[in-house]
Amino acid sequence: MNDPDRFVRMLNAIGKYTAGNEGHSPEYVRLSPIAAEVCGLTPDNSGAAARSGCLNLILAYPERCLASCSYCGLGHGGDGADGPAQERGRLPVYPLPQIIAASRKQKGLARLCISMVTHPRAVDDTLTLVEQLTAEPGLPVSLLLNPTVMDSGDLELLRDAGADHVAVAVAAAAPQLFDRDRGAGVGGPHRWQRYWLELERAASTFGRGRFSCHLIAGLGETERQMMETVQRVHELGGVSCLHPFHPHDSNSCPAGQFRRVQLGRFLINYGLASWNRMEFDEDDRITGFGLAGLPLDELVGSGRPFMACACPGMEGKCICGLSFGGAINGLSNPLVIDTGDIQSIRKQLATYLAVREPWSPALNR
Ligand code: SF4
Repeated sequence: MNDPDRFVRMLNAIGKYTAGNEGHSPEYVRLSPIAAEVCGLTPDNSGAAARSGCLNLILAYPERCLASCSYCGLGHGGDGADGPAQERGRLPVYPLPQIIAASRKQKGLARLCISMVTHPRAVDDTLTLVEQLTAEPGLPVSLLLNPTVMDSGDLELLRDAGADHVAVAVAAAAPQLFDRDRGAGVGGPHRWQRYWLELERAASTFGRGRFSCHLIAGLGETERQMMETVQRVHELGGVSCLHPFHPHDSNSCPAGQFRRVQLGRFLINYGLASWNRMEFDEDDRITGFGLAGLPLDELVGSGRPFMACACPGMEGKCICGLSFGGAINGLSNPLVIDTGDIQSIRKQLATYLAVREPWSPALNR
């Protein structure tokens, strides 16, 4: 672990250090709303239980996450604030045996995913959880890593404990945005270089196709910057997964922007295009994908570039429930797309709104 004393000092400094294990991981975990529905612990409002093949679990600590990323309510800066991001910080915590018992009853479940947070115990507790969950219920386990609290050798330990896929959420597609939203700009501990180092380690420890990078579209990056970052991940051997910033808020990521970078991401991930052969307008918006003779229209019509992209289930298809559940017009990454959705997507792809002021983290607090 990266200088754990530094984090205990941080905890003491913010006056929230809590000794003991009550409510802590690894005995307890926080569930995403979809995961709680899948487990039957909340009403299945989104139909998630019938469709999701993955349970997303988040490490839980009374001190919360010691970072303060501007778009996330799990960080310690989210205390007392109110807004869409802060809802995440209020997700309920459940004892692990209750989750295991619930997951045994879910027939379609094919994978578990553990999200680390920034905490001095995160690596040790994730190791314990991987060992427990690969034994019971015995499903494949993915990890959303937190590079800031990891040291060299930790990835090997997690792989040897049974994790079969890892992801790093770089989130911001450009270094200055990363610094603004996750680093010095919000008094957070994360560093752009450190996140890319962990992606390189993931490439060498887990290998091609067994690691991914989560990116958020709409934090103020240009379409060109997003494509350049997706290309960098592809060249390491990984897959990029895009999430729209605040999917139900039209003031975040414009639909046209999201659809174009989704399509570009798909083409780059499959080696069909390269960012430096794409065409961009004066505002760095994609105007051409640089394809020679590829049937782009057919590809758009298949809907595949706009569907969820993350860890696979038993049959190799994406089963991740992280970001589905919303409507196509609400910019979700669904597991299934119908003909009406494709019509909307075609219109969105051709829509270029006037470029606005970049989103500011202050609006999220
Ligand atoms: S490190 Fe992850 S969990 Fe913690 S505030 Fe940042 S995005 Fe949220």
